[in-house]
Amino acid sequence: MTERDFSIQIIRRLRDAGFEAYWAGGCVRDHLLGRAPADYDVATSAEPAQVTPLFRHTLQIGAAFGVVQVVGPRIGDQPPLSCEVATFRTDGSYTDGRRPDSVRYCSAEEDAQRRDFTINGMFYDPIDGRLIDYVGGEADLQAKVLRAIGNPTARFTEDKLRLLRGIRMAMRFDLAIETETAAAIQQMASQIGVVSAERISDELHKIADHPRRAAGFQSLLEFGLLATIFPEFAESATDSDAWTEVIQSLQCLPRHASFPLVMASLFQLRTDAEVRRTAQRLRLSNEERDRWSWLHAHRSKLLDWQQLPLHQQKRLVVHPGFPELAQLVESHAAATGTSTDPVTAAQAMLATTPRERLDPPVLLTGDDLTAFGLKPGPMFKRLLDAIRVAQLDEEISTPEAAWDRIHTLLQSHS
Ligand code: ATP
Ligand code: MG
Repeated sequence: MTERDFSIQIIRRLRDAGFEAYWAGGCVRDHLLGRAPADYDVATSAEPAQVTPLFRHTLQIGAAFGVVQVVGPRIGDQPPLSCEVATFRTDGSYTDGRRPDSVRYCSAEEDAQRRDFTINGMFYDPIDGRLIDYVGGEADLQAKVLRAIGNPTARFTEDKLRLLRGIRMAMRFDLAIETETAAAIQQMASQIGVVSAERISDELHKIADHPRRAAGFQSLLEFGLLATIFPEFAESATDSDAWTEVIQSLQCLPRHASFPLVMASLFQLRTDAEVRRTAQRLRLSNEERDRWSWLHAHRSKLLDWQQLPLHQQKRLVVHPGFPELAQLVESHAAATGTSTDPVTAAQAMLATTPRERLDPPVLLTGDDLTAFGLKPGPMFKRLLDAIRVAQLDEEISTPEAAWDRIHTLLQSHS
């Protein structure tokens, strides 16, 4: 059984118990577009206390907001199927501009009105194959228009994350943003800052993840959202040379690109400090932050490939970030019509040099130095690094030669 079948089975059971139940929101949109939805959400007239007894296994995490998770049987070692069943609801007031303080159960039609955009506001009855569209979502989807449900300014005032969701939805489905909706986004863009860093970061990840990311970032700039999220771009004009270079680089990235790679491309003309500050502000994971910083710091090194000492060349190509670094530099070269020779040379080194020459086992460890009577400290680290550099530069290749080098270094130091 698939998630789709599971959701239909749930709808049938709710229907048999006398309730209204439909697919709702994103999965209806995706169904009409002939795309596979990420998940199937069910909306129903049944309240959580009425939904729960109809199913063997439910989770009540969102029950206060009318959401019950129905969990299917576990088959083999697959994770069990699961489906969110939400009671038709309207959102109460938004005192913090982020999430509703309370919800009230209501009709399907009222539930449609609380959703963000018309294309996301439809229901579908998968048993009778019937669309329930109170908001004109089907017509907008056909006309490729993104339109807020109701008064755009009021809707964006309720939840400012919708400003970003709007840009993302328009990018994702290649939609034109309807005039009043667009004007409201423009007018309210400077207020995106009230949304938590986590939610903003989450939306940015989804934009960066999409093959049309360049169009997404271009819209973010045009609507004034980019400058609020990244003050670094406050003075960027859509027609400035630097911005054009960045957008064209983004266009030349591979379809699938990690968040750090996309951010490294977006910030390639920025300073190290700006990158560090932004990674911090977006509360990125250490892994994402480290990869982005590494890409940023090593971009200019790869461009200077011919000038790099052998040990730096080797360290660059064996680093797990190297394939992405190559893509970062290549996309910029493709965008600006400059040479990709450094990338080609680095890739050739990686392809033709045996691993034990690129990244040989170390000749000496910290333990060896300790056994020799040296105390761990800054000098200790410097010695180990000097040995490693000499080894990678192919000046020494045996522990004996390494010890000779240590003695020379210690003498020159005393
Ligand atoms: P995706 O494929 O990215 O999951 P989706 O449309 O399903 O797209 P979700 O974030 O999963 O997006 O939300 C499910 C539905 O809930 C949306 O289709 C929309 O109807 C409604 N919704 C989600 N977020 C908001 C919001 N901030 N304001 C109003 N309605 C929202
Ligand atoms: Mg969804």
